[in-house]
Amino acid sequence: MDKFYITTPIYYASGKPHIGHAFSLIYADVLARWQKKKGKNVFFTAGTDEHGAKIAQKAEDAKINPQEFVDELADIYTDTWHALGIEYSDFIRTTSARHKKSAQEFFKKIDEAGDIYEGEYEGLYCVGCENFVLERNLKDGLCPDHKTVPQKIKEKNFFFNLKKYLPEVKEKIIKGEIKISPESRKNETLSIIESNIGDFSVTRESVKWGIPFLRSDLSGA
Ligand SMILES: [Zn+2]
Repeated sequence: MDKFYITTPIYYASGKPHIGHAFSLIYADVLARWQKKKGKNVFFTAGTDEHGAKIAQKAEDAKINPQEFVDELADIYTDTWHALGIEYSDFIRTTSARHKKSAQEFFKKIDEAGDIYEGEYEGLYCVGCENFVLERNLKDGLCPDHKTVPQKIKEKNFFFNLKKYLPEVKEKIIKGEIKISPESRKNETLSIIESNIGDFSVTRESVKWGIPFLRSDLSGA
């Protein structure tokens, strides 16, 4: 039997679900039902991203621990999807024991393959956000939420050796072994690869509410 896998983004559980979340889930649900009708073995996943500085901050503001905070929200998310009749095969919460275990196993594998190295991450940090902000998201050089100038800071992080794999990924996309559609998204992906993107940091030194990276005391989501 032909397999068909589909996923939505996993929603960042710092607030209640809104119409935009429902939009992508309904979209995915329609596609999943269509593929099932065509006789395919369909696996459809959705979930919630429940770590990070913003969630830790919101939980602190509400005077509850982050786990309680996301537990409450995850219930609201799943109740909403049930009310809409969404038929996903699995709902993945990043604070669940099974997700933590597989994330750590995955990290261990790429670490053992020599693809994780220690480096320095330099970025713009907003004290109000307690997080890094991207230059392109600033408004007149200020954090759009806090109207303050972010500071340039460096932190020690671990990086994934993405550059090593890019030539192979690029070739597979060009040959059609990795299919991206529509064509405009395929071209966008290729131009990102060609724009000399660097390796990316996979840990956050300043974030404590995350999944610990076992080689060090740093956390990574
Ligand atoms: Zn800010």
